[in-house]
Amino acid sequence: MAERTPLLAANWKMNKTIEETERFLAVFLPRVADAEVEVVVCPPYPSLKAAVEHCAQSRVKVAAQNMHEADSGAFTGEVSAPMLLELGVDGVILGHSERRQHFGETDEALARKLPAALAAGLEPILCVGEREEQRDAGETDEVLRRQIEADLAEVDDERLGDVVIAYEPIWAIGTGRTATPQQAQEAIELIRERVGTRSVEAAAHVRILYGGSVNPDNAAELLAQPDIDGALVGGASLDPGDFAAIVAAAS
Ligand code: PEP
Repeated sequence: MAERTPLLAANWKMNKTIEETERFLAVFLPRVADAEVEVVVCPPYPSLKAAVEHCAQSRVKVAAQNMHEADSGAFTGEVSAPMLLELGVDGVILGHSERRQHFGETDEALARKLPAALAAGLEPILCVGEREEQRDAGETDEVLRRQIEADLAEVDDERLGDVVIAYEPIWAIGTGRTATPQQAQEAIELIRERVGTRSVEAAAHVRILYGGSVNPDNAAELLAQPDIDGALVGGASLDPGDFAAIVAAAS
């Protein structure tokens, strides 16, 4: 069995100005200084540089919440991988359900974004997950299979293990309704199996996170599941004490 370093990622969404980012990190960084897991904060674009500067003397990494697949061009309002790299950013969330739902993010675009991120040297965190009515209709497996197949279609087999995947059931995001550890484990096991149809080695190495109303009280039980390699945390990651407690639950 491959050793997979747990990863805890904070998705701040459209929250935290530069000043708020600095205040958060001043409290948070000392609290996770001894953590033996990987920790990533994902601020909005304007706060990335401040986060990179503040995290420079720590092991905490910084990721963006989206990027365009092209390096440059006539794409008003978009940001590219080279621009993120220039800021010193380490990774990027791709395909978050809020981007799929509100901003028309498609599997086709994600199939281009993932290889672009990897080629640039950014660690992508690909989000997948089913809607509530899809789960109720027994379609969860099919939805996950489809997303994994489509989104990773253009990633070479040798690079598949470098992608981080976050299983985020949409009904659990920001709702306070967490998937049970069993539901999360089953879905993540299925995702690992799908990666395994492309590369057995990648399936052993790929880190698959759970996301959806993770908090300091439920983190340990979710993270104890054999296939869950960490968490992508929204609401609870806005408070430095809560996110540090979640990091501690994984350590
Ligand atoms: C998210 O947006 O990725 C997320 C998991 O949010 P929350 O933890 O608030 O459910």
